[in-house]
Amino acid sequence: MALWSQPVVAYIDPTGGLPPSMWPVVLAPIFAAIAAALFAARLFAGRFLKRFGPVLIGAAVLLIVAGLLMFWLARKRGAETTKAGAVRVVVLGFDGLEPSLVKQYMAEGRMPNFSRLARQGVFHELRTTVPPQSPVAWASFITGAGPEKHGIADFIVRDPKTYKLDLSLADRTDMAVPWRGPAFWDDPAIQKAGATLLRVPLTFPPPKVNGRALSGMGVWDARGTEGTYFFYSTAPDVPDPRGIVCRFERDGGTLRSAIPGPYRVGEDDTVREPFDLAVKDDTAELRVQGKSYLLKEREWSDWISVEFRLGKLQLQKVATVTRAIWWRSGGETDLYVSPLNFDPARPLFPISCPPDYSAKLAEAIGTYHTRGMPYDTNGVSDGILTDDAFLAQCETILGENERMLAHELARFKGGLLVAYFEAPDAAQHMYWRAMDPEHPAYTKELAARYGRVIPECYARMDGVLGRTMAALGGRGAVVVLSDHGFAPFRRAVHLNSILRNMGYLALKEGRTSPELLKNVDWSRTRAYAVGFNSVYLNLAGREGEGIVRAEESAGLSVEIAGKLEAFEDGPSRAYPIKKVYVASDIYGKASGANMPDLIVGYARGYRASWQTSLGAAPEGLLEDNKKPWSGDHLMDAGDLPGVFLSSDRALDAHNIAEVGPAVAKYFGKSASNPK
Ligand SMILES: [Zn+2]
Repeated sequence: MALWSQPVVAYIDPTGGLPPSMWPVVLAPIFAAIAAALFAARLFAGRFLKRFGPVLIGAAVLLIVAGLLMFWLARKRGAETTKAGAVRVVVLGFDGLEPSLVKQYMAEGRMPNFSRLARQGVFHELRTTVPPQSPVAWASFITGAGPEKHGIADFIVRDPKTYKLDLSLADRTDMAVPWRGPAFWDDPAIQKAGATLLRVPLTFPPPKVNGRALSGMGVWDARGTEGTYFFYSTAPDVPDPRGIVCRFERDGGTLRSAIPGPYRVGEDDTVREPFDLAVKDDTAELRVQGKSYLLKEREWSDWISVEFRLGKLQLQKVATVTRAIWWRSGGETDLYVSPLNFDPARPLFPISCPPDYSAKLAEAIGTYHTRGMPYDTNGVSDGILTDDAFLAQCETILGENERMLAHELARFKGGLLVAYFEAPDAAQHMYWRAMDPEHPAYTKELAARYGRVIPECYARMDGVLGRTMAALGGRGAVVVLSDHGFAPFRRAVHLNSILRNMGYLALKEGRTSPELLKNVDWSRTRAYAVGFNSVYLNLAGREGEGIVRAEESAGLSVEIAGKLEAFEDGPSRAYPIKKVYVASDIYGKASGANMPDLIVGYARGYRASWQTSLGAAPEGLLEDNKKPWSGDHLMDAGDLPGVFLSSDRALDAHNIAEVGPAVAKYFGKSASNPK
């Protein structure tokens, strides 16, 4: 989708790089140096400075004391307070594990460690947030509160004044985490015990913890997007995909082109790094910045480092890493370059706490993806990346996550360790079509080749759990949770088109609006849909061109909710929309200007269309989903609980917002009553 590949707000801060927490470290030696210089001046200048002597000595002493104090403070902040024999809790966050599939695979013997944990402790469903979207649910996990408190209610949000869209994964304007309120790991008992967070969603910029944190979902690529890939081809015309398409120029037997680099918003997007590709039989040599990489046809390259330089004087360096894959088809040569990750060894801005942790981790386990959402699902959806290439990438990313966890488990003495795995979410989004005969994209061939992907992914998560339990050796608690379940996405609902037909949304001309609410006549529009589950009233005083008066809003909300729930899918007469929640009923009156007025809970099999998420209103009302992106979880929250397992019955939760507080309570209790 377009928004995924558009930087919406400035993201490269020319002054950026050093977080405030590092200032004492930098300032302390400077103060100390000034103090020493003054002291030396006093020693050698003799009589000349005699008059000012006492003042200078006073200043020097003050500066030395201040410097030492700041240095001590900085040291203290980074210190670890883990002790042998302390409480240990490992939380494994598996995105999108579906309870019915977990039960099925457990019964089939594919998940022996889940079965063992279920026997030993607790295993049940975990209520998710309304709506059941990952950023919303993980924000509730982090803060122990609902969307009305943490402020995230959809992947995509709109600015009510301008109707402009943005992603809710990171606050780029203020360079702050996107959620409001304290995180459960800020609890004194956990802070005292220490915490390690591995790629927890929405932890960018990295939160300060007594321990380590590596940012996850929310870290953008080097072009400031969720993931812009580059596609190079010798073919004359390539259909317009979401990535950037570049032409190859032939130079004898060599193909030449360039990789588009980062840019500062408001400045020209002209930074390019040239490379060439020399193809010989089934191997190609890719040369960029004086380095050469050998690429076998249809196999991913190793990490390719590309350093870009920005600014008039080329002073700002942006170190990136990527992987590439090439192939031949019909006499043409194609090359796919994955979106640019900030190099974890020297990222443009800190993606970890402490800031050097990302580099130390790379030293220990090798270079890894730093993009918040590293799976190249867009490449597959656009018909560019093959399933096999995508699955090979999944393997690489999953391997990185496993190595990160193993590395931390090996030195885990006490405290909290949270590790997040996006793999089950990515696998189910892309391969539901291979195991659901009722899916419009299902074929027998697909099932034969890729029907194994989802069960194998679940078994792999079981292996992660098994190794975690083995590493703990019975000393400490293990918690497993998923943020929501999963369901088929067979029919796409054009919600704005439905609102248009019902007379709530008006267009300036014709019957369609291409995207981003472009053709909307606000003077006659009372409601519009943006994001995956959100409907907003065009409220006077809140929306830039709002017309709905505050006193009308409650009645109008109930009216729209009733009509949407009664809407039928023509031929089948099924109800695509199971339940519409009025925000004030579930979130209370306190919800802010960025919260939707209605939250749409789709019936199993249905989901908002991609066009709807961007505020578009196409001609039809519904259509079959024939895309590879075939499973989803943006339906009614009541039908999509996640799973919860815990090795200790004393650590239990039934709602995703209760997990964090339960963990904090566990630490509090254990600290006062050590086992
Ligand atoms: Zn998902």
